[in-house]
Amino acid sequence: MQSKLTKTEYKQKIVDAGNLMVSLGLTVGTWGNISLRDTETGLIYIKPSGMPYAEITADDVVVMNSAMEVVEGHRKPSIEFHFHISIMNARKDVNAVIHTHPIYSSAFAVTRQDIPGISEDFVQIVGDKVINCKYSLPGTPDLGRNVVEALADRNAVMIPNHGTVCVGADIDAALKICHVVEKSAHIYILAKILGDPQVISDDDMDAMQDFARNHYGQGK
Ligand code: 13P
Ligand code: ZN
Repeated sequence: MQSKLTKTEYKQKIVDAGNLMVSLGLTVGTWGNISLRDTETGLIYIKPSGMPYAEITADDVVVMNSAMEVVEGHRKPSIEFHFHISIMNARKDVNAVIHTHPIYSSAFAVTRQDIPGISEDFVQIVGDKVINCKYSLPGTPDLGRNVVEALADRNAVMIPNHGTVCVGADIDAALKICHVVEKSAHIYILAKILGDPQVISDDDMDAMQDFARNHYGQGK
């Protein structure tokens, strides 16, 4: 039976975002995972482990708390609940975490190189660069600690030989980060083939981040 505290609309957001993530080519099969925190209750909605996205329904979504306990759901939660919930516990500004297995960013994760700040959208919303966290096996508490440490106050981090983790205030924001990180990784690889990619200066990164935070868009 569904508890009074859990919300079907939040479960549906996990389902919809999973299908969108697959359609954007950011992951394949059953890999990757998504979580969303309800700021009203503090409960965290997370994808069930090892299920094809097209088959997941709202009823399959697992609800957990900040102590990493399952509070509702008949499925096993994503094995990566450690880093999802550790990030939410460390970052009050983050209510959605998306882990993807994308192609171009993974080339950086496999060679353990940073993705540098080479494009406007990237430096505005992701950070100065995306780095790799320390290596650990998938689904371990160790990986949870390493992801949080390397993410710091940026909005994305890579897991060596595995994939990326992107965060945001809500699912749309986190998905946008995933998309922009993957696009920048793709651009950087193409730029390397063409010539000598130039990184944006620290001063210009600061100016662009300030603009994105305080002026960009219609409402500010
Ligand atoms: P889950 O299916 O348990 O979410 O695991 C997929 C994955 O990408 C592990 O890193
Ligand atoms: Zn994974």
